[in-house]
Amino acid sequence: MLKKFLYTIWLVFVIAFIIVFTRNANLKNLVAVMENRTFDMRQSILARDKTRKPSEKIVIVTIDDASYEYVLNRYGEWPLPRDVYSKLAEYIEASKPQSIAFDLMFVKSLKSSKEADNAIINTISKYKNIYTAMNFDNQETSLRKPPILPEKISIPIENNSKNVDFSYQEYNNCRKILDELINNTNNIGITNVSRSDDGILRKMPIAVRYKDKFYPQLGFAVGLHYLNQNNIYNDSKIIIDKNSKIRLGDRVIPIDFDGSVILNWYGGRGSYKYIPLYKLIQAAEGEKGAEQFDFKDKIVYIGTTAVSLFDIKTVPVSKTYPGVEVQATYVNNIIDNNFIIRYDGWITLLVGLILSILTIIIVLNETSVIIGALASSTVYILYLLANYFAMKYFNIWLDVVYPLLFTVSAFMLAYIIKYLIKARDFEQQYLLATTDGLTELYNHRYFQEQMKQMVDSCARYETSFSLIILDIDFFKKFNDTFGHQAGDAVLRQVAQTLKKNVRASDIVCRYGGEEMSIILSNTDYETAVSTAQKICDRVSSHHFHLPNGKEASVTISLGVSTYPQDGITPSELIDAADKHLYKAKEEGRNRVGN
Ligand code: GH3
Ligand code: MG
Ligand code: MG
Repeated sequence: MLKKFLYTIWLVFVIAFIIVFTRNANLKNLVAVMENRTFDMRQSILARDKTRKPSEKIVIVTIDDASYEYVLNRYGEWPLPRDVYSKLAEYIEASKPQSIAFDLMFVKSLKSSKEADNAIINTISKYKNIYTAMNFDNQETSLRKPPILPEKISIPIENNSKNVDFSYQEYNNCRKILDELINNTNNIGITNVSRSDDGILRKMPIAVRYKDKFYPQLGFAVGLHYLNQNNIYNDSKIIIDKNSKIRLGDRVIPIDFDGSVILNWYGGRGSYKYIPLYKLIQAAEGEKGAEQFDFKDKIVYIGTTAVSLFDIKTVPVSKTYPGVEVQATYVNNIIDNNFIIRYDGWITLLVGLILSILTIIIVLNETSVIIGALASSTVYILYLLANYFAMKYFNIWLDVVYPLLFTVSAFMLAYIIKYLIKARDFEQQYLLATTDGLTELYNHRYFQEQMKQMVDSCARYETSFSLIILDIDFFKKFNDTFGHQAGDAVLRQVAQTLKKNVRASDIVCRYGGEEMSIILSNTDYETAVSTAQKICDRVSSHHFHLPNGKEASVTISLGVSTYPQDGITPSELIDAADKHLYKAKEEGRNRVGN
């Protein structure tokens, strides 16, 4: 009873814990952070894989520390005069690149001269394959009035997925780049990123929302240009289907819940082909002996990688990863059709359930705890392996932390269940081994054991105990008259009568056949005889109910013996009681022998 109560309390506690756990935002967040970290681990291992190489198509013109120094020496200032960017773009265009993307923002600046601004505006307006960047923010509208942007730089997105919500990518203000750029090119990409709660950049938005219109992320815009140039996809309309996927020709882009794509990484910082900006300046300025570059069909990103210029992110594969390489990775994922697709929610639940069921089956079927634990861990490890290969070959991100929690809980639960079953089995077997099936009294074996213990303990503590042996009178005849079934019913009712008329500490046994015995602890001969007499009277006055509905009367004869005066071993005591019983039979039955 108490046990059941405790189990119930425990169960309520566990369920309450699970409910609190799954509802508590902090704990949920903890699991999310852990899951993200395991994603980073998987990505870091995969990025070391030599078969994973960044696309040769992408070249980064990098403003590295050396170039920064070169610019300061040559032009005496930073930022670089904008007409130099114009010259660089013209130089690159000369070898027919697929596209050029400035991961730089040409905002209105007092430092920049009108002529330099005009140079970059002219160049960017002249070519249809040059992209430039802009950034949204949530600056106070009283400080800066949110500008109106022309519709041509936005992108039509039709979101048919219930799971994708662009409110995560919503901004209400924007710092404009040069008006003439905005007016003269359609190729403006937004450089806002999506960071996880732990500050690590794992995803990029496909577009961000501003004043109810969508503006493409720079990497997405450059990627779309690639698809267009290679006749893979030519429409400008972006449709997110109800399965949260965008299909662009044969490219499938899975969209995460917040309107982002999850990037697949190709290696740590510096994996892409870099050309230091100063070398390109030397070439573009026509310096003698300068190295020449061929950008035919390349996608050329121009951006900073110098840590001192601050465009550095933390990504799964690197703590200091240049923003321009994030952009390159984005485009690379589009080229390779390689975005990560995350399966969470009910799939995680299903995985957790399957692992739990396997764990429970193993634990319940394995007798050794160590082997049970090893086998259960093996199941989980196999899942981790499958999970790794799912990411490697199918770009699938399956959760591992919730399934681990499931598996561990299932393991513990299974052991608790197993322990409870064992305890119950043991109890049942003990009961089977010590009781008589018909009368539910203790059996002969138990009687003998108890006699031995009684004798031992009474010898040690110098106390006494008594034994009553009783036998039903003329029971053979009773059976013959009323049948065996009726005899069995009488045996059961005699047993009940005995139990009702002795103390709870007294041990009532079926000695054999229709003979029963009672061990009375701490009882002297006189008290035992009077108990025996009481039992004798109760039985003789009892109306026994027979299976045929009739009633019958039965009497018993009893013999009593007491330790130590009648004997000091079980067999001496049994003999003595037997003798008294025999006497009772001789003297006419239905009595206590003396
Ligand atoms: P008395 O003891 O008065 O001398 O006569 P009795 O007829 O009872 O003689 P005895 O004790 O020798 O007989 C034992 C009878 O008890 C034999 C058997 O028919 C009956 N008996 C023993 N075990 C069971 C049982 O489990 N069920 C039923 N129905 N009868 C039993
Ligand atoms: Mg008998
Ligand atoms: Mg008898």
